[in-house]
Amino acid sequence: IFGELEVPAPIEVFALTAACNEDTHPHKVNLGVGAYRTEEGKPWVLPVVHSAENAMANDPTLNHEYLPVKGSPEYCKSVVQLLLGSDSKAISDGRAGAIQALGGTGALRLGADFLHTLLKYNVFYTSSPTWGNHLGVFKHAGFTDSRQYKYWDNEKRCLDFEGLKADLMAAPENAVIVLHGVAHNPTGMDPTQDQWKEIAAIIKERKLFPFIDLAYQGFATGSLEADSWVPRYFEKEGFEFFCAQSFSKNFGLYNERVGALTIVSANAAALQKILANLEILVRRTWSNPPSHGARVVATILNNPSLFNEWNQHIQTMANRVLLMRDLLFKKLKALGTPGKWDHITKQTGMFSYTGLSPNQVNYLVKEYHIYLLKSGRINMCGITTKNVDYVATAIHEAVTK
Ligand code: PLP
Repeated sequence: IFGELEVPAPIEVFALTAACNEDTHPHKVNLGVGAYRTEEGKPWVLPVVHSAENAMANDPTLNHEYLPVKGSPEYCKSVVQLLLGSDSKAISDGRAGAIQALGGTGALRLGADFLHTLLKYNVFYTSSPTWGNHLGVFKHAGFTDSRQYKYWDNEKRCLDFEGLKADLMAAPENAVIVLHGVAHNPTGMDPTQDQWKEIAAIIKERKLFPFIDLAYQGFATGSLEADSWVPRYFEKEGFEFFCAQSFSKNFGLYNERVGALTIVSANAAALQKILANLEILVRRTWSNPPSHGARVVATILNNPSLFNEWNQHIQTMANRVLLMRDLLFKKLKALGTPGKWDHITKQTGMFSYTGLSPNQVNYLVKEYHIYLLKSGRINMCGITTKNVDYVATAIHEAVTK
């Protein structure tokens, strides 16, 4: 029965980590991984997460009963507030709500399922380039018309804003526009607030549907509020939209699959209809969401002292990334590496599109045991004060050889 099956290509980011783990070279560096790393190059269990988990472990009132299909009500309420702010008009009007999902990926998939199955939307746009999984998620939800809007100008190493606008202007009505709400993955290059205003105006004029992907709230500026400027702006402008929230990165809860599909709709009745339909989709897909991670998130969001502690952790992570950007930039400058490298300090969030070519990437892997995606994307957290000289020298060699 299974003899004719073809083996799909390995998933690049996981294959890269596996190759790096097998590599015995003493100076190997993994710049490919999509997760936060400490100055010691280790994953970080946030101390506030640890405290919340300890308290949960000793709470005799907790059990392992199923959650409601739509997820923990306390969690859903808290994540909408985190996204839109407690003074949000959409929240007080009862037209903003969330459904718990399996990470940001689950939220994207659920939203895509809804838009394709119930609204019959079939065209979706992602930025060129985009996170490697967007295309697969939307196609597997049934979307057959996949298009891209220009985003990264590789020559100038910046946003191709004119190209982006032209592509959105040409999009057909009801096309779903996937927008990286903050800390664009993979380029690390975000539009400015003025540019976002222009993007929103085109989306409104062309009657497109905004689907914001917010996987890195806090990582760009260290401020949760500043990093949710985009969804808050769309809300104030009166849009109906979806937002896929992920708490994998900002809580370090990668394997707990904590996310939410947040909806802002025209009125409370519409929201209830949307949620009721999403509930049926969830029931058919994963039936009930997992509880542990959502409980951790809800506990922290609802306790002012834990929330404050979490804010400090976010700043620690964001500042470490900023420091590494600055260090790498200065080292490359000091080495006189040909090319402009200031994009490294202009980009935000964990990732940087270096502009390195596939050949140069290959050289780094083969000669220096530095692992990064073929696109030239690096995770700034893979860099530490101990390996930055090594990485900068290797990049210099790759560029000048
Ligand atoms: N969206 C973007 C842009 C991402 O980079 C990621 C993860 O890398 C996700 C969504 C998915 O996040 P999660 O791991 O919570 O499913």
